[in-house]
Amino acid sequence: MRRRRFLQSASLGVALTSPAACRVGRTGTGSTSSSSGRDKVIVVGAGISGLAAARHLAGRGVDVVVLEARNRIGGRIWTSEKWAGTPLDLGASWIHGIDNNPIAALAAKAEARTVVTDPESSTDYLPDGNEVDDAQAEALGDWQTKTEDALAAYQNKADKDASVRGIVEGALNWSSLSGTDKTLVSFGLNEYEQEYSGSVNQMSAWYFDSDADIKGKDVLFPGGYHQITDLLARGLSIRTGHVVKRIDRDSGGVTVTTGKDTFDAGHVVVTLPLGVLQSGSVTFSPGLPKAKRTAIATLGMGVLNKCYLRFPTVFWPDTDWMTYIPELERFGQWEQWINITRPTGKPVLLGFNAADFGRTIEGWSDARIVDSAMGTLKTIFGSDIPAPVDHQITRWASDPYARGSYSYNKIGSTPAMRDHLAASVGKRVHFAGEATHRASYQTVHGAYLSGIRAAKEIVD
Ligand SMILES: Cc1cc2nc3c(=O)[nH]c(=O)nc-3n(C[C@H](O)[C@H](O)[C@H](O)COP(=O)(O)OP(=O)(O)OC[C@H]3O[C@@H](n4cnc5c(N)ncnc54)[C@H](O)[C@@H]3O)c2cc1C
Repeated sequence: MRRRRFLQSASLGVALTSPAACRVGRTGTGSTSSSSGRDKVIVVGAGISGLAAARHLAGRGVDVVVLEARNRIGGRIWTSEKWAGTPLDLGASWIHGIDNNPIAALAAKAEARTVVTDPESSTDYLPDGNEVDDAQAEALGDWQTKTEDALAAYQNKADKDASVRGIVEGALNWSSLSGTDKTLVSFGLNEYEQEYSGSVNQMSAWYFDSDADIKGKDVLFPGGYHQITDLLARGLSIRTGHVVKRIDRDSGGVTVTTGKDTFDAGHVVVTLPLGVLQSGSVTFSPGLPKAKRTAIATLGMGVLNKCYLRFPTVFWPDTDWMTYIPELERFGQWEQWINITRPTGKPVLLGFNAADFGRTIEGWSDARIVDSAMGTLKTIFGSDIPAPVDHQITRWASDPYARGSYSYNKIGSTPAMRDHLAASVGKRVHFAGEATHRASYQTVHGAYLSGIRAAKEIVD
C-alpha cells in the first residue's frame, strides 16, 4: 500500500498496557472443553486485531485464549526470515502516518528501528523504458488531477454509485483521448488499485476512499513488522494450529469448535479476515443477522501481492520508489517498485501487483512471475541486467486464512456496512479486524484499534 494522497488530520487513540501486566494463567497445552469455562473469552485469530483484543482483556484480568489456524502468529503481518540477515515483510510493511499512531507507540516500546520512505522519492519510467521527463511528468500530474476532480465531482452530485473506472473514463471522454493520454490516465487508475487493492472496475466511485485521518511520515521496519506482533503476544495464551470451524452461541455463552477441540467461553472475539467470512468456511449458529451478512457479501476483499527479487548487485537508482507506466494492454502490470536496498543494505527490489493482475498471477508458477517482472526491469534497465539470485512471492488471495490482502469498498458498499460488520451479536459474539474499522480499514492501526474496541465491549 503506497499512500498516494495525504488525508486530513489524525486522531488515533493509543491503548498500551505493559506486556508483563498481561500474563494469563493458562498456557497452551491443548485442551478439551473441560479446561474452558464460560468465564473465559476466546479470541479467534492471532493477527494484530486478535492480539490487541487479547492483551486488553488479559491486562484486565480476563482469562483469554487465542485460537489461531496457522502455525505462526501475526496473520497479515508476516516477516520472512528465509534470507538470513534480511528479514522481509510479506504482508504489511508500513506504519501509515506515524503521528499519534498507536503502532508507532508500540514500535517505540519494542525498540524497533524504523526507516522513513518518501512517496515523492521516485524515478518514473515510460512504456519504452525511458525516464519520464519534466513535461511528461507535468502531463501525468494533470491527468491525475483531472481524475481526482472527476471522482470528487461525482461524489458530490451523483445519486447512484458506479465504478471508479466508469466515472473517470466518462468524465474524461475516454474515446476521444489519444493512446498516450489513455496510457497516462490508466497508470493513475492503477495507483488507486495499488492503494486500495480493489479493481477500478469494481471499486466504488462514491466510497473508494476512506475518511481516515492519517498524519505524519510513513515508516517501515528493517527488522520486520513481527517485532510489533511479538511484543503484543508476549505472555498470552495462544494455541496455534487450531482452525476454527464453527461458533455456536446461546444466551449463556459460546462454544467454539476447531479441527482439534471444542472450547466453551462467555464471549468470543472473531477477527476472521473479510475474505474468510465471505468464504463461509466458519459456521455461525444461530446464523448471523441480515445486516452483517449483507456487509460481508457487499464489501470487497482486494489483492496486493509482493514479489521480492534479490540480485547480485544494485543496478537501479537510489530513490525509494520506481514506477513504470506500461502500455495500455499491460494495464496494472509491475507499475510500482520499492527499493529495499536502503532499509536492508542488500540488493533487493520489491515489485507490487494489485487487484486483477495481482490475482491473475497467483495462478502462475514462480518462474513465470519472475520472468514477467524481469521483462519490465529489462525494458527499463536493459537486457544485460543480472538475473535475480532468489525471489520471494506472495499469493494472498489463495491463502485460506486470509483470502485476500485487505478489504475495500466495492460498488454498493457503504461506510455503515463497516459498523454492521463490527457489531456484536447477542452480546456474546464480537467482531474485530481491519475490515471492521470504519475509517482506518486496510491498515494495521485500524485492525489494532478494532481489537481494543471489541475487548472493551466485553470488559469496559
Ligand atoms: C501484502 C500486504 C501489504 C500490506 N501493507 C500494509 C502496510 O504497509 N501498512 C498497513 O497498515 N497495512 C498493510 N496491510 C494490511 C494489514 O496487514 C492488515 O490490515 C492487518 O494486518 C490485518 O490484521 P487483522 O488482525 O485484521 O487480520 P489478520 O492479520 O489476517 O488476522 C486474522 C487471523 O485469523 C486467522 N484465521 C483465519 N481463519 C481462521 C480460522 N478459521 N481459525 C482460526 N484462525 C483463523 C489468520 O490466520 C490470522 O492470523 C497489508 C496487507 C497485505 C496482505
